[in-house]
Amino acid sequence: MNRQAKILVADDDRIVRRIVAVKLSGLGYEVSEAEDGREVLDHIENGEVPDLLVLDSLMPRVDGMSLIRTLRANPDRRISSLPVIMLTSRGSERDVVDGLEAGLDDYVTKPFSPDELAARVRTVLQRNERAAGR
Ligand SMILES: [Mg+2]
Repeated sequence: MNRQAKILVADDDRIVRRIVAVKLSGLGYEVSEAEDGREVLDHIENGEVPDLLVLDSLMPRVDGMSLIRTLRANPDRRISSLPVIMLTSRGSERDVVDGLEAGLDDYVTKPFSPDELAARVRTVLQRNERAAGR
């Protein structure tokens, strides 16, 4: 099990970012934060590719959905197959459907339980490790 997996949390709401970061770092993950999708792309362009991305759907500049499409279209497999969990708003089924079609791995609806998010993070990471044959 990948205990030291690197997770990048992107949300324009600082409080949500902190809740996610505190929960996941408390479980031993190495957590970084980004304010929007543009910052996520900056991280990746600087060679800081996380093992998993927790992504808010509604963010200024580059939103969650645009970011997923951009990542999935990247020629580098490490980036195009980067696991993504999206934080969606209640009542935005369209976001969920579009997200899943765009290659989203899983999602939670805000307001979410940090325990549920942590369980989904663990599951997606394990599924990804199995797929990679590790
Ligand atoms: Mg937002």
